[in-house]
Amino acid sequence: MFLWNGRLVQEDEIQVSYLDRGYYFGDGIYEVFRIYDGKLFEKQAHLNRLFQSLREVRITLPWSEAELSAMVDSLAETFGKKDGILYLQITRGAAKRSHLLPESAEPSMLGYCEEVVRPVEQLKKGINTITLDDERWHKCHIKSLNLLANTLARQEAADAGAEEAILVRDGRVTECTASNVMIVKKGVIITHPNGPLILDGITKQVVERLAKLSGIPYRNAGFTLEELMDADEVFVTSTTKEVMPVTMINGIKVGSGIPGVITQLLQHGFEQKFKPAAAA
Ligand code: PMP
Repeated sequence: MFLWNGRLVQEDEIQVSYLDRGYYFGDGIYEVFRIYDGKLFEKQAHLNRLFQSLREVRITLPWSEAELSAMVDSLAETFGKKDGILYLQITRGAAKRSHLLPESAEPSMLGYCEEVVRPVEQLKKGINTITLDDERWHKCHIKSLNLLANTLARQEAADAGAEEAILVRDGRVTECTASNVMIVKKGVIITHPNGPLILDGITKQVVERLAKLSGIPYRNAGFTLEELMDADEVFVTSTTKEVMPVTMINGIKVGSGIPGVITQLLQHGFEQKFKPAAAA
């Protein structure tokens, strides 16, 4: 089933106007929730970020947060698979093309679930990455549908045989095209501070809590490209990549080229958070 403007419908009932501002301007925002064992993971954190994004782009929903939350639950209940994602996007809606925000447009909302398999092999072995200039705008904390800079950078990484691009702005590492990035140096986890230059990842939030629980020092101090290349461990975090070791950057091994101990410890802690109690 699909969630379309507040109702659960079949795919053929979805009709998007050619005037939809999502189509012309990428004028909208989205969220990707993770479903583990049929249950939504960190649902409230995703809802909080969704409403934060909506406020930032001045889209007002005709539903309350509680109503939206119930719709997300109903959609997840129709999924019928164990592992997947719930994709939810909201555009400003249809209006005559104009750069000015329309006075009356009904937001369009689309949601659906999709099966996603955990990247188990990569989680064990780590991924290959490249570094690229961060060419995005200065409001990366908004989960905007405008992902052209991200998709082009991700493709450049793929063309170079890498799974992700680590983005660098003025010599400092911000995040990746679809994930946050952290380094470990002398036992300390370091990542970019929250603010307009990165998305406040939900997985990043979980990792911060896990680090604190495990007594691992965690600093939102940011780091330079040189510090990235000199790190003991590097990993990226996202809803679908989880805590993903980075073992290669620009063709150079990170540390000894295998996932580091702190990365593995965090991976273990992360798994415990979503594994069904019986298997934990
Ligand atoms: N940064 C960017 C640019 C992203 O697209 C994502 C994926 N949504 C993340 C970070 C990680 O966020 P999350 O952990 O909430 O998936």
